[in-house]
This record gives sequence, C-alpha cells and structure tokens, in this order.
Amino acid sequence: AKDFGRNQAVYFSYTLDAEIKNKIRLEQKLRQALADDKLMVYLQPQFNLQHNRFYWAEALVRWVDDEDGFIPPDIFIALAEESGLIHELGLVVLRQVCHYLVEHELLLKSLGIEGISVNLSGNQFFAKSFMPQVKAVLNEYKVKPEQLEFELTESVLMENTQQAIDVMQQLRELGCRLSVDDFGTGYSSLAYLKQFPIHCIKIDRTFIRDIPNDQQDIEIASAIIAMAQKLGLETIAEGVETQEQSDFLLAQGCYCIQGYFYAKPMPVSQLKSLKR
Ligand code: C2E
Ligand code: CA
Ligand code: CA
Ligand code: CA
Repeated sequence: AKDFGRNQAVYFSYTLDAEIKNKIRLEQKLRQALADDKLMVYLQPQFNLQHNRFYWAEALVRWVDDEDGFIPPDIFIALAEESGLIHELGLVVLRQVCHYLVEHELLLKSLGIEGISVNLSGNQFFAKSFMPQVKAVLNEYKVKPEQLEFELTESVLMENTQQAIDVMQQLRELGCRLSVDDFGTGYSSLAYLKQFPIHCIKIDRTFIRDIPNDQQDIEIASAIIAMAQKLGLETIAEGVETQEQSDFLLAQGCYCIQGYFYAKPMPVSQLKSLKR
C-alpha cells in the first residue's frame, strides 16, 4: 500500500506539473497573440422574429494559434482572467467592435444590425479603469453609446451586487444597453434581478437545447419569458438551432433569437453572404 501511495503521488505531481507547464505556455502565447494583434472578433447576428430581420449582433472573440490551432474562448478567457490579461483582451475586443461599427456601418445597417453586444468578465467590469476606458474608446471611434450593449453573467452580478449596480447605472446613464447572460444557470431569481438596471435577459442555451422534447425545459423557458414580460424586460433565447425551437419561442412571445439556425458567429467579411 505504501508503494502504491508513493507512485500515486509521483504520478499526480507529474501530471500537475505538465498541466501547469501547459498553462504557462498557453499564457505566454496569449500574451504574444495580444501583442501581435492576433485575436479576431467574430459577430453572431441576432434575429427578430416579429420584424423578420436581424437587429443586433454579439461579439465573440476568436484565437487561432499557429501550432495549437483553434483554442476555445472558454479556455483562453479563463486563462486571461487568471493571468490579468483580461483587461488588455477586453480592450482589444471593445476597440475592434467600435471599429466595426464605424468601418462597416453601411453593411451592418443594410442587414438591420443596429448595434453590438460585448461580453464582460467580472475582473474587467469591476476594475476602476473600466468606465473611463469605455468612455475613451467611444470617444475615440465616435461611436454612439446606444450602439453598444454589455453582457454580464448572473454570477458576476451576485459577486458584488452594490458595485455592480453602480457601474451598470453609469453605463446606462451613458446610454449603453445591458443584458444578463446565461440566465437561469446561476442562483438569482428574476425578482432579484429587478434591482439591476438591465434591458434584457438572455435565456441560457441549456434550456433551449432540448426543446421541444424536454417538457421541463419547455416549462422553464415559458416561465422565464412570462416573468420577464411582467417585469418589463426583453428576452433573447440563445442557442436556437431548429425551426421548432424558433416557433416555440415565437408562440411564447420571445421574439429575439440567437443561434445557428439563423446565423453562426462569423468574421465581419462574411456578413455580406447572409441572406436578407
Ligand atoms: P456566451 O457569451 O454564452 O456566448 C454564446 C456561445 O454560444 C458562443 O460560444 C457561441 O458561439 C455559442 N453559440 C451560439 N449559437 C449557438 C447554437 O445555436 N448552438 C450552440 N451549441 N452554440 C451556440 P463561444 O464563441 O465558444 O464563446 C464561449 C464563451 O466565451 C462565451 O459564452 C463567453 O462567455 C466567452 N466569451 C466569448 N467572447 C468573449 C469576449 O470577448 N469577452 C469575454 N469576457 N468573454 C467572451
Ligand atoms: Ca454572451
Ligand atoms: Ca450566453
Ligand atoms: Ca456561456
């Protein structure tokens, strides 16, 4: 048993070591990718079923490494948060989004896209430098605040409620839109959300995925939509992949749809190919 224990420990420290090395390696690469301007922002157009057209888009960051290939954002965003690179990454994304809004104004308009949503991580949102940065970038690109939406997850809002409300209030006073991302996956209730100055909640795609087969998901999605309506909040459904899901959401009064069924995340240059 002693031997077994020792081997176990050796094995454990070896894999841990490899994992840490890999992390450090990836972090250095991310740092370099940021320095070399290698990160790309894709846009995923969002569809309005009532008006039968696209109306907005979400910015989703992409990183393709020369050796490692495509690295999922969930992986490198977490890494950026741990290493502090998230501030630089967040700024890169915000600037690229503002650049798109100016540079591709006509293309976006021709598709009906009036603005872009930007994901915020907690560390970025709670940083003192965040508000001054947003104002400076908007100013630099001459972008109207109304063209920007910020997405915050429930967990970020629960982390430090009072500070979150303060910063959100400032963003709202500036004229930006605010939404709660991945709604339903955290612990907050809709009633609790009422204290946040938000415009919209994004129903997490785990509740959409198994519609119409999963009766429980149908109930949950309907309840979220009905409650949001009573509270005067807009809803958008994430991860809509089928006609049935889209029809269901329309019937429930959730008109805003994001998902592969209408459009995948894509580089701005590919937006032209979308059927109008
Ligand atoms: P999220 O904010 O919940 O973004 C939605 C995710 O769902 C995206 O994954 C998108 O590609 C994916 N998606 C969209 N439609 C469908 C669909 O119909 N089916 C399925 N299965 N998936 C769909 P992605 O691009 O891998 O991003 C993952 C997460 O990384 C995002 O989740 C967000 O939390 C984070 N992220 C992405 N870009 C940024 C960024 O610029 N800043 C920050 N802080 N986080 C970001
Ligand atoms: Ca999001
Ligand atoms: Ca989401
Ligand atoms: Ca997510």
